[in-house]
This record gives sequence, structure tokens and C-alpha cells, in this order.
Amino acid sequence: MSQVATALPPVRGKLTSGAPLAPLVWFKSGGAAEWLFEPADAEDLSAFLAALDPEVPVMGLGLGSNMIVRDGGVPGVVVRLGKAFAGVEQLDPTTLRCGGGASGILVSSKARDAGIGGVEFLRSIPGTVGGFVRMNGGAYGREVKDVLVECEVVLRSGARRVLELAALGYTYRHSELPEGAIVISATFRGHAEEPAVIQAEMDRIAAAREESQPLRSKTGGSTFKNPDGHKAWALIDAAGCRGLMRGDAQVSEKHCNFLLNLGNASSADIEALGEDVRAKVKAQSGVELEWEIQRIGIDK
Ligand SMILES: Cc1cc2nc3c(=O)[nH]c(=O)nc-3n(C[C@H](O)[C@H](O)[C@H](O)COP(=O)(O)OP(=O)(O)OC[C@H]3O[C@@H](n4cnc5c(N)ncnc54)[C@H](O)[C@@H]3O)c2cc1C
Repeated sequence: MSQVATALPPVRGKLTSGAPLAPLVWFKSGGAAEWLFEPADAEDLSAFLAALDPEVPVMGLGLGSNMIVRDGGVPGVVVRLGKAFAGVEQLDPTTLRCGGGASGILVSSKARDAGIGGVEFLRSIPGTVGGFVRMNGGAYGREVKDVLVECEVVLRSGARRVLELAALGYTYRHSELPEGAIVISATFRGHAEEPAVIQAEMDRIAAAREESQPLRSKTGGSTFKNPDGHKAWALIDAAGCRGLMRGDAQVSEKHCNFLLNLGNASSADIEALGEDVRAKVKAQSGVELEWEIQRIGIDK
């Protein structure tokens, strides 16, 4: 792992060296962040990044629900947004500005209370606004690009910028958010709707989720993107991978585009299992699956 100069810029928030990331991610595996920074507010984040050696890599972390942290840990600084970034405020009858650390459940609940329809799908995606914006998170026929007006980011240079939808270059589960940029807020626009109708849609989505996904497991959500014209889970199933194991890592029996940590799987086990699946699917169908899960850091 690279050695960040021991004298990092002063902060008002919390800066921890060698911070274990496993407790902070859904898979509950992987190594430590060289530094974990929980900024006090946007000014703190901006001043820190401006003063930090430009060579030091920086990345955002939400709930770690779409992430394999490799066992050797993550060089540089991992930024995690806390309470100061978790607010949701209504700007007009159909628009909300949401902090980068706000959860999908909070955003969709606030939208319901404000009578704003169209963001119910965020109810079902475990994660934060920063992760949704970066990943173009989506479910049930809608994705972030359908509701995002703009987002505010702190660039790796420390400069604060507002990026409009068009600047994010959205495609399926992908954005062109600049490297090292941290999303500190996002503005979502829906449409006027009765709260009871919104609640009914949220309930429908929650029930559908419960039925189809291993929600209380150590997992990273959908492992691979759906290739054009295919469903990843169907290709994985057809290749005989349902239930496949490596160490304590397993392809979910319930939804075979999910990988599970059954107990003490290392991130290397989980990632290698994913590669086993890719190889079997390629051999069986000729299709090359592309990872959706972000794999970060270095091997042990
Ligand atoms: C049970 C389960 C179900 C899921 N279902 C869905 C689904 O239906 N649809 C879907 O799209 N996804 C789904 N996912 C995946 C995941 O929830 C989404 O990708 C979500 O957007 C990740 O949000 P996060 O905040 O946890 O991001 P993380 O997993 O922490 O990070 C994901 C990426 O976003 C970046 N990032 C995080 N926060 C910031 C920030 N503030 N600024 C800049 N970059 C940031 C990270 O660097 C990383 O590249 C599911 C996951 C699980 C575990």
C-alpha cells in the first residue's frame, strides 16, 4: 500500500488511519482504508481536498452496498458522508434537494410526505444519494437519470461544482462522474401525487423485493450488468452456477446474480467466485458478463 504523508491537512471532521472497511460494507469483508475521512461539512471536505497532495487517491463510500473491498485494503483516502450530509429539503412542489449521505428510504419517505411521486424506486435500493448518483441506480423501470436535475460535487481539487444531468454522461449503471469527485447533494424532480398512492407503490416494491432478493444477507446486490438483450441471472442459471461456492462465498440460490458471504468469505473468495461465474457463462453462452459491483483496493 502507498504511504500517504503522515501529515495530512487539518480537518474539523474525523480522520482515521488504517480504518477497517469490512464493518462498513454489505459483504462484511475486505481490508482497511489507509485513511477514512468523515468530513464535518462541505467546507471541511473542500478545504481538505484542496490541501491534500494531488497524488493521493480519493474515493467516496456510501453504504458499501455495491462494493467488494479487496483484502489488502484501499490506498489513499476514503470519504464517508455522515449526518451533516443526510438532510432532505423540499425546494418546490415537485423537487427535493437531498444530501449525498441520505439513504434511499429517507428520500422516498420524504417524497411521499411531500406528495412527490416518481422516486418510489429509491425505496428499494439500499444505498446513499452519492452512490445512486455515481451508479445511476435504478429499479422497477426507473433510474436516477430519470429524476436527477443536478448534483453538487466536491472535485478532487477541492473545488465545488454543480453538475447538471447532461454532464454526468449516464448509461446503464454508469456515470462519468469525475475521478475522485464526491457527491455532496443531488436535486431530484418527480411529479405531484397523492401520498397514499405513493405509499402503495412503495409497499408493492418492498414486497416484490422481499420475494426475489436475499435482503438480509451479506451481499453486494446485482453482481453483473444485464448484457444487451439478456438477463444476467438467466445466463448464470443456464451455466449451472446457482449455488456455486468458493470458500464461504456462494452464488445465491434465491437470486443467482447475487453473490453471498455465508460467514467468513474473504473478498478474494468473493471476487474469484465472480470470475468463475464469468468463465462458465462465457463457455456456455458466449456472453461476457461485465461486473456491476465496484471492486476497489488491492489484493493481499
Ligand atoms: C440487497 C441489495 C439490492 C440492491 N438492489 C439494487 C437495485 O435494485 N438497483 C440498483 O441500481 N442497485 C442495487 N443495489 C446496489 C446498490 O444498492 C446501488 O449501487 C447503490 O447505488 C449503492 O449505493 P451506496 O451509497 O451504498 O454506494 P457504495 O456501494 O458505497 O459505492 C458504490 C459506488 O459509488 C461511489 N460513491 C458512493 N458514495 C459516493 C459519493 N458521496 N460521492 C461519489 N461517489 C460515491 C463509490 O466510490 C463506488 O464507486 C443493491 C444492493 C444490495 C445489497
